[in-house]
Order: sequence, then C-alpha cells, then structure tokens
Amino acid sequence: MNNYDEKFNNSIKNTIFCKLPTKEQEFIKEQAYLLNFSFQEIKQIINIARDLSMWDEKNIIEIFPNHEQKKVILSRLKSIYNDLRLKPNSYKNFELKNSPKEQKYTFKALDKEGFGLGLCPVASEKTRCCNLLTLDAVESCGFDCSYCSIQSFYNQNTITFDSSFADKLKDLKLDKNKTYHIGTGQASDSLMFGNREGILDALFEFASNNPNVILEFKTKSDNIKYFMQNNVPKNILCTWSLNTKTIIDNEEHLTASLQKRINAARRLADKGVKVGFHFHPIVEYENYLQEYKEVYQTLQDTFLAKEVVLVSFGTLTFIKPVIKQLRERDFKSKITQMPFEDANGKNSYPYATKQKMFKSAYDSFKAWQNDDNKVFFYLCMEDHNIWQESFGYQYSTNNDFEKDMLSSYTKKLNMEFLI
Ligand code: SF4
Repeated sequence: MNNYDEKFNNSIKNTIFCKLPTKEQEFIKEQAYLLNFSFQEIKQIINIARDLSMWDEKNIIEIFPNHEQKKVILSRLKSIYNDLRLKPNSYKNFELKNSPKEQKYTFKALDKEGFGLGLCPVASEKTRCCNLLTLDAVESCGFDCSYCSIQSFYNQNTITFDSSFADKLKDLKLDKNKTYHIGTGQASDSLMFGNREGILDALFEFASNNPNVILEFKTKSDNIKYFMQNNVPKNILCTWSLNTKTIIDNEEHLTASLQKRINAARRLADKGVKVGFHFHPIVEYENYLQEYKEVYQTLQDTFLAKEVVLVSFGTLTFIKPVIKQLRERDFKSKITQMPFEDANGKNSYPYATKQKMFKSAYDSFKAWQNDDNKVFFYLCMEDHNIWQESFGYQYSTNNDFEKDMLSSYTKKLNMEFLI
C-alpha cells in the first residue's frame, strides 16, 4: 500500500465512505489524490455525496465542479450543495428507496430499574415549554419516521416493556391537590402496541385512581381497539400526530394513513373521548402551506370545537446524532434537505420560515379560536418571541404557559383545575 492510500484510508475512518456507491468512492479518492484534499475536506465531500443520494438529487460525480484550483472547486461545490438546501423541496419525482415495508422488531419485557416518569426530554427554559411530564410505558417505536430523534436513543429493532410497570404506577404518589399533565407518547407510540404487557390496563387504572391527572396518549396509529372495548376515564385525552399525505407517504414510514388517523379520532370522539391534534413537524416543501391548510380544514369539517382539547404546532429540529444516523441509513429522505439555522443548539428552519408556517397554521383555525368551547393552541419547543409573531400573544414564563394550558384542558375535560 503506498503512502497516499494509507493517508486516504486513515482519512475515511469513522466516516460513511463505505456506504457510498463504489463509483462515487473511486471518484472521491481520485479527486482527493489529484487535489490533495485535507481530512476535513474529504469528510465534508463524503457527507455531501451522502446527502445528495439520500435527497434523490444528482450525485457527487454529476455536480462536481470542473476547475484546476481546489479552492474554487470547493467553494463552488458548497454553493451548489447549499442551493439544494435552500430551494423548497419537491416530492414530485421523489423515489423512495429501502423504506421499510413491514415492522421488523422483537419485543422484550424486563424488570427495568427506576421508573420512566420525568420532565419532557426536550423541554428547556431556552424555548417556551409547557412542562409536560412524560411517562415511558414502552421504549422505542415500531414506526419509522425519518425525522424522529427516538431512533438515536433506542435500539430500533427491540421494543422494551417494563415488566414491573403496573406495580410502579400503582405505587406512584402524587400530590392530590395539584393538576398534572402526563404524556405517554414520547419514548414510543402510545397506542400501536395496544394492551400488550397490560400497559393500557395499568394506565387506565392509574387515570381512574388519579382524577387530578390529565393522561395524554399520543399516536400515529389507528389502534383504538382497547379504547372502544373499555370505559375510558374522563381525564384521558387521546391525541394524533398528523401531517400532510405527502409527508406521511414519504417520511412517516409504517404509520397509519392520514385518513385512518382522522377516522380513529372521529370514532373516539363519537364515544365521548376528548381528542387533540399535533402538527409536529410541519415540513417545508413546494406548495406545503396549501396542503397543510387542506388538512386543517378537514379537521374543522370533521370535529366540533367542544370535542377537541388542543392543536399544537412544531417543526423540524435536528440534533447531530440524528443527522449522523440518517446518513448511515441507506434510504431516501428529503427531511434534512433544508436550510439549517441554529435553534437553541439544534438545527432547524430559519426563523422567518417558521414564523410563516406557524402563522399560516394558527390563522387557519379561526373558527376554533372564537368558539365558546375554544380549542387550546400552542407551539411546541419554540422560541419565546415567535409566539407573538405567529399567534399574536406570548407567555412570559413556561409556568404561565403550563397554567393556561392546564386551565383550558381541565375545563374541556370537565375536571377541577388544581394549582
Ligand atoms: S412544549 Fe413540547 S418540548 Fe416543551 S415541554 Fe411541552 S411537549 Fe415538551
């Protein structure tokens, strides 16, 4: 092996070079030799090549600038790459590849240490947050949404249940004179596994024994069988994460279709269970505002304000491990093909883009804001000031936000509001 091969092989260690098609590997190696790329430059070009493939755009060989000076080549390459990030995505000719067709995972039940109840894992004082408490009834999820950060926390192929979950829940001592808002849909999907390991039995009993707890089940499934077959305590709230058909078809793999989710919510509302909807993430692509408006309108045509407790909005925020994990997967996704701007240490859309999407969303629900049974609207994990520019009001603290949310939820759920 000659000196150069050795140097190059050292440079590509801990990169995703070997995941690139052979032709692109050979091309990058040749260019690195001809232009004497540094380790950092090689790494950047490998990531660019990977992103182009994941985004289903022209590949690195097709877009590589032709010039004798390395400096010019690299700056032209970066601007081509950034232009692809800046232009609104189009899913028109987007071809999915290796997107999972069936759920492949194994179940594991073990007596876990500790109890998965705590503050929402992404809550922060840097963002305007509702202080949600999250309860991890199950770890990891059987769906495969390309943007999901859960995949970077848990092993995707194993769904873990806590065999002593029901006992721990029974032993949980809460302040009876305080209203709590607890969600079970952060570390997994709340309903896709039904009553496996008796988790819904335990959670329904917990809700019945703790009438001061608002227990929220959040899902992308239509698995409401247990809810239809059992009495649902009034302090239980069932919410659906919704998106446009374009994003569900291309980025939310294995989940229930938009219509199936809305139908499931309608069936529960018919049974008197209060429902809610989360649009998180709202994703920017060609004609997205119009497509989201159609979904917002469908909800208002399908539900009465008195049946709906909340509607929330949020958007893409990426931590580095998720971007790395996405690049390591051999599939197609346009989810990271976006202009990144820092959002409290994470990567997200530019502020102006977020302000536009949130204002369009909020303005699309006027009917539910002026109704006597008005619905509670909120932004999830967003900048303090963007509320004012999107909703026309803002909270000065997370506690104020939480208080307003709980007073609205308890009113709609016909519960006493205890502070
Ligand atoms: S606003 Fe969103 S991120 Fe913040 S605590 Fe509530 S659910 Fe969690």
